[in-house]
Amino acid sequence: MSRFVVGLTGGIASGKSEVTRRFEALGVSVADADLAARAVVTPGSPALAMISERFGPGMLLGDGALDRARLRAHVFADVAERKALEAITHPAIRELLRSQCEQATSPYAIAAIPLLTEAGGRQVYGWLDRVLVVDAPEAFQLARLMQRDGSDAVLAQRMIDAQATREQRLALADDVVSNAGHPDALQAQVEQLHHAYLQLADALG
Ligand code: ADP
Repeated sequence: MSRFVVGLTGGIASGKSEVTRRFEALGVSVADADLAARAVVTPGSPALAMISERFGPGMLLGDGALDRARLRAHVFADVAERKALEAITHPAIRELLRSQCEQATSPYAIAAIPLLTEAGGRQVYGWLDRVLVVDAPEAFQLARLMQRDGSDAVLAQRMIDAQATREQRLALADDVVSNAGHPDALQAQVEQLHHAYLQLADALG
């Protein structure tokens, strides 16, 4: 069981996956908020029942699974509806991440939460012992996003603008991995943090 949990976050295409992969290669268990977001709305889950109640049974497909495209379209332009959806899903996602981290077998665990800042940060994720931000200048995010997803510059910029700012994310950080250079430069930063986290986890007992 891991009692020490590091929350890992960063803007879109900042390099979170690159960094997470390196921690995993060192044997660290990672719980992923994007996967958790899917897991909590599987058929039979309490969150899916609440969604059906709040937004109507029309949000379910014939086989009982969530009609993601329809729900996304419904909440897209309506902040109040989006908040209502998040009030159902976010607590469920947090609980699942927490239990996955608690059950991890490595000396400490990482909860990878891309939208940690947007989702309420430390105030709602009080069980995170530490927050690690993967940081890259916006111009790098833009270039990587265009290359990885084939997005055009306008769409890529819109996706960046829809997120918290770099400063807002950094304000949450206990630790920062700077991903403004060659990917190889990530390894030493990750290893240094890994050793620090092992010591902190050990001190917790
Ligand atoms: P995130 O998980 O934060 O969205 P990724 O780790 O997927 O970001 O990185 C976004 C894209 O940029 C990927 O295609 C990745 O291979 C590439 N990338 C990440 N870091 C670097 C870097 N230091 N130099 C060049 N390309 C990078």
